[in-house]
Amino acid sequence: MANAMLIADLHLSGERSATVELFLRFLRDEASRSQRLYILGDLFDVWIGDDDRTDPIPQILSALSNYATRGRELFLTRGNRDFLIGDGFCRETGCALLQDAAVVNLSGAATLLMHGDLLVTDDPDYQRDRIYLRSKEFKDDFLSKPLSDRIKKAAEMRQQSQVAKSKLSAKIMDVNDTTVSEYMRKHGTWQLIHGHTHKSGTHDFRLDGRPAKRIVLGEWKEDQGQYLVTERNELESRIFR
Ligand code: MN
Repeated sequence: MANAMLIADLHLSGERSATVELFLRFLRDEASRSQRLYILGDLFDVWIGDDDRTDPIPQILSALSNYATRGRELFLTRGNRDFLIGDGFCRETGCALLQDAAVVNLSGAATLLMHGDLLVTDDPDYQRDRIYLRSKEFKDDFLSKPLSDRIKKAAEMRQQSQVAKSKLSAKIMDVNDTTVSEYMRKHGTWQLIHGHTHKSGTHDFRLDGRPAKRIVLGEWKEDQGQYLVTERNELESRIFR
């Protein structure tokens, strides 16, 4: 039995039915062998409120709830695409929300878990918009609109974000190393795991004279998804197909 598994950036939606199928199979055949599953943000390509029942949301919710009801624990960090996930989602799935920047024990190592977008500080416009979108003012206003309006508005916002992103260099959209060190130092951890940038990999460096590690989870595709697994005190990256 694995101790924990971690995934990020599945971007599930009605247009990505192959990835949805892959994830449902992952929950059933792979994650079921793990006591804990951590989803580090952007499980959904868009989340417009816990009352949305558009396909394939009901199927995903029931699969998550199935996972969480058999003595296993499910944890979720909200991503920039699904930051509107709320208490209703948690009640229905049995998942616990993690703060974006939460310290957990993985194989004996205090590990900082984040979605990753807070680390992209070379893009101040994005960080400014992020504060607005997370504000009570925006959330209350958006969630009070009828579902059809929210669907329309979310599509518009996504298009604007695509245009903004197309004007930025890859370096600006990656994490800032100083910000990474600041977060790790603040939380007293020498290991960080995040997603968001889709730049899967492991970065070894030194932080305040000690060896430190930053692991980036990659985005899920139609036919494969990356996950980390802790087993026998080791952290290993695997691909689920
Ligand atoms: Mn993201």
